[in-house]
Amino acid sequence: MTAASAQGTGFGTGFPVSFEFFPPKTPEGAEKLRAVRQQLYVLHPDFCSVTYGAGGSTQEGTFGTVREILAEGVSAASHFSCIGATRQSVREQLATLKAMGVKRLVALRGDLPSGYGAGGEFHYASDLVEFIRAETGRDFQIEVAAYPEVHPQAKSPDADLKAYIAKVQAGADAAITQYFYNSDAYFRFVEDAHRLGADVPVVPGIMPISSSTQLMRFSDACGAEIPRWIRLRLQSFGDDTASIKSFGLDVVTDLCDQLRSAGVPALHFYTMNQSVATLEICRRLGI
Ligand code: FAD
Repeated sequence: MTAASAQGTGFGTGFPVSFEFFPPKTPEGAEKLRAVRQQLYVLHPDFCSVTYGAGGSTQEGTFGTVREILAEGVSAASHFSCIGATRQSVREQLATLKAMGVKRLVALRGDLPSGYGAGGEFHYASDLVEFIRAETGRDFQIEVAAYPEVHPQAKSPDADLKAYIAKVQAGADAAITQYFYNSDAYFRFVEDAHRLGADVPVVPGIMPISSSTQLMRFSDACGAEIPRWIRLRLQSFGDDTASIKSFGLDVVTDLCDQLRSAGVPALHFYTMNQSVATLEICRRLGI
């Protein structure tokens, strides 16, 4: 089935979706995000997650946004990165999150800005997952990151897959992937992980395409590959944002449709604190 043929059929209605936001830096940004969330809540997300700056740089903004989402009656997941953290600081933050009523965490290693020096008592996300389980038992549902196109710092694809398996063995309940536009990489990753005994749900992370330069910049940094044909088409549109957005909607809707038809457990949208593209993709999918 193509995205076009799924339109208006009602196929997929109620399909599980979740949305990711970053903590706004200004009062105007916070106000805008409140409006964006209300627009997206019509899709009844399973949960909304809020990113967390490595080294705790956004802790206040992250926890504040998580608090607002919970107060709006929606399940919220706090991202939580451990690089540079101590056991005691993590323990204290877990206590804060628990007291806030948070039941879901996206447990990450995170990346410190260059020159910051790693330090801290945690080396990898698997250490954090193990620590959270040891400290809090089953108080939190724990999601971890997965990289179908391989994490940029991994020694090898095999080492990266093993690092993912270690996170699942340490107690992760599910995974959310880095975004990708090549679904074969996702299917292969899930198959390989299952073969090695990690059979928790792996939810594809979906990045709507609204801006060509922004996408190229992000993708270079996080190791997500933009297939040549998508890159060249985007470049050919130059500053024509209407064409970029229209092409982006077609490409990402088709990707989601293909993933959903193949039975993925849910779709997690990297909203970039915007609602328009995510709403339109879901509308086209009949969600
Ligand atoms: P890990 O799973 O620890 O992996 C990091 C690297 O170490 C990989 O290359 C892995 O192969 C390697 N590795 C792991 N274990 C071992 C081992 N035992 N021995 C040797 N090598 C090992 N970043 C933020 O700062 N804030 C966020 O909110 C945030 N949210 C994200 C959400 C999702 C869904 C995703 C996919 C990424 C997110 N990131 C976020 C980015 C993430 O922090 C970076 O990709 C970071 O570089 C790796 O984090 P991780 O949890 O995947 O690390």
